[in-house]
Amino acid sequence: MAKRKTIIRGGKIVNIAKHRADAADILIAGDTIVEIGKPGMAAPADAIVIDARRRLLHPGLINAHTHGHGNLAKGMGDRWTLELLLTAGPAISGNRTLDDKYLTTLIGAAEGLLKGCTAVYDLTVEFPMPSVEGLQACAQAYADAGMRAVVAPMVADRTFFEAVPGLMERLTPGLQKDVERLRLAPYKTSVKAIRKALKAWNYDHDLVRPAVAPTIPHHCSDEFIADCVRIARDFDVAMHSHVSESKLQVIAGYKRYGKSLTSHMDDMGAVGPNFTVAHGVWLDDDDMKRLGDKGASVAHNPGSNMRLGSGLADVIGMLRRKVNLGIGTDGANCSDNQNMYESMRLASMVSKVRGPDIADWLTTDQILEAATVGSAKALGFEGKLGRIEKGYKADIVFLDLDSINWIPFNDPVNQLVHTEDGTSVDAVMVGGKMVVENRKLVNVDLAKLAKQAETARARLEAINKPNRLLYDKLEKTVASYCSGLCKEPLHIHRYGAPLGSHSHGHKHKHH
Ligand SMILES: [Zn+2]
Repeated sequence: MAKRKTIIRGGKIVNIAKHRADAADILIAGDTIVEIGKPGMAAPADAIVIDARRRLLHPGLINAHTHGHGNLAKGMGDRWTLELLLTAGPAISGNRTLDDKYLTTLIGAAEGLLKGCTAVYDLTVEFPMPSVEGLQACAQAYADAGMRAVVAPMVADRTFFEAVPGLMERLTPGLQKDVERLRLAPYKTSVKAIRKALKAWNYDHDLVRPAVAPTIPHHCSDEFIADCVRIARDFDVAMHSHVSESKLQVIAGYKRYGKSLTSHMDDMGAVGPNFTVAHGVWLDDDDMKRLGDKGASVAHNPGSNMRLGSGLADVIGMLRRKVNLGIGTDGANCSDNQNMYESMRLASMVSKVRGPDIADWLTTDQILEAATVGSAKALGFEGKLGRIEKGYKADIVFLDLDSINWIPFNDPVNQLVHTEDGTSVDAVMVGGKMVVENRKLVNVDLAKLAKQAETARARLEAINKPNRLLYDKLEKTVASYCSGLCKEPLHIHRYGAPLGSHSHGHKHKHH
């Protein structure tokens, strides 16, 4: 069968480096861009014609870090640190059926597509361990919506309470017993389940591919991480972990390993070009250098970092040490939406608010590169996704230039990062096929989705009530214990030196 041909005529294509957008025609064969030429260029007679006049075309945004399981929890909490969010986990995403797992993932895919995102790195969790059917349900949701995805089972063999040094001892005997029932599967059982799911994977790897995600280094035994590294190698898949997202993680890491979490992961053989650090808010200079030298990525999620009070990541420091930078939204359970335009805008703001020296500020083109090419590399799609260029997959967003965000049109790159909020998205193409057209999803019925979501939400709220009550009982102790632990200065852990002897404080770093 001949490949389906499409020609997009007259759209203005964003040129990131030049901050320009000139009109051009794009010829697509199957799922790939085969030619870009002057408006009116010759095309095969049987090519489908798409009129893109008054449209700005940009490469589909790529979300380098999210959690499909979080979409049923948007807007559930307010004053949550990462540690309180983890404590609330069973209350907000407990007792999910297979249908719930599909539904929550589909909600995120639908939102992402409507807001100009064409591929995501989804770290998805199942209790007490991943399953073949659960991972297939997530993958199927993306396949049905028409979105590309990397689906990584997010795993651990220690609960949050076991992972934070000293926390368990702080709980009353009654609460210790309560959190006992949150115990995760032994790592060998989880490893077996992951291997089984990866062997059974029957989706086109260019559309929906698997990966593996030891959730947070110190939530996993060394044996578990070593097995995850082996799985990544055996199945040639990527690996993703939350590293130094919060200050508490850094302190927990030093207490457990006597070194930074990045050093620990590096010593475990995890750090390489297929490894992504989520957040990295508290990475030190040596951590960044290790990641950069080994070609690893950081998924920067400024919205989540502010929402959870995790801090402001030193992204310019990462770029200077050659870390590959991707941008993400994080899960809707801690960012409340899946809007990559907002993530880009916040990435710009966070880089600026850290200090007054503009040499340390990210540029809008660095940010747009990160949200396209950088994220593509983190997902393992380097050279295939992230650009509107010959040889790349035809993942293209069509913005309406008559939308208020583009009146007037001054600079396409600055306006994509600082002005656009998703409301100009008119159409979205993934692999040469329209998945959003006239501002509507092609493959998802939103009214039906809303009904299903309400039914699931009500059922889960009722069934998770005991988990909610347990959270209420734990909140005070967890909050005070964790904030107390965070008062410890990092100097002591990092350098064994007393506070004030060296000016290596995170917020005062200079380069
Ligand atoms: Zn995350």
